[in-house]
Amino acid sequence: MEKLAREQNISRIIAMEERISKCTRCVLQRGCVYRPATGKGDLKPEILLVFHSEGNGNDRKKIMDIRQLIKKHFILDKVYHTFAVRCQPKSCTHLDNLNCFSSKCLVDQEQTCRVTRAVCEGIPIMPGDIEIISCLHYLIEEIDILSPQIVVLFGDRTSYFTLKAYGLLDSIITPSLYMINGRHVLATVEADQFTSQDAKELVSYLHSEHAV
Ligand code: SF4
Repeated sequence: MEKLAREQNISRIIAMEERISKCTRCVLQRGCVYRPATGKGDLKPEILLVFHSEGNGNDRKKIMDIRQLIKKHFILDKVYHTFAVRCQPKSCTHLDNLNCFSSKCLVDQEQTCRVTRAVCEGIPIMPGDIEIISCLHYLIEEIDILSPQIVVLFGDRTSYFTLKAYGLLDSIITPSLYMINGRHVLATVEADQFTSQDAKELVSYLHSEHAV
């Protein structure tokens, strides 16, 4: 049964990732992103972590450290992480100075820019509200496919928009616990501020069952 569920999840996630790789909803953002970020981890997860985007303190090492903290304090093994926004926006003077418009991707797999022929110098910036709203439906679909018992939302904006998508319109308090479709959804601090103490606090919220 477990094997069948995992196989079904794999094919649904692959189909979704194919759509994400071809997505051009945010034309300007896609110019500096070779491939939109996709989720990683166990495809029958007990817990699913949501970061706002790749970059802005969510580098690979930070994410791996958070995954370890979560495994240790929640005492579970099957972790999956993903992003609210798949294409990390960048600030780029070369792009701003282009006097022609292109909807094509301007960087290659090695992050070499087709405009400057040098390694991309774009500086990661926080995704805007429009980018989060445009991309959020992939996250909701991913949560629906993987159906984890627990979801952790990192940072106020990720929490605010994700909870809004589920119809929770009140202001967000962090840390806090929400019950959504029988699932425990925890809102916490930004990934770059997340510590062992925050992980402990989330566990105690989870066990208190004191949902907002
Ligand atoms: S950020 Fe999301 S919605 Fe926008 S182009 Fe990338 S994948 Fe598409």
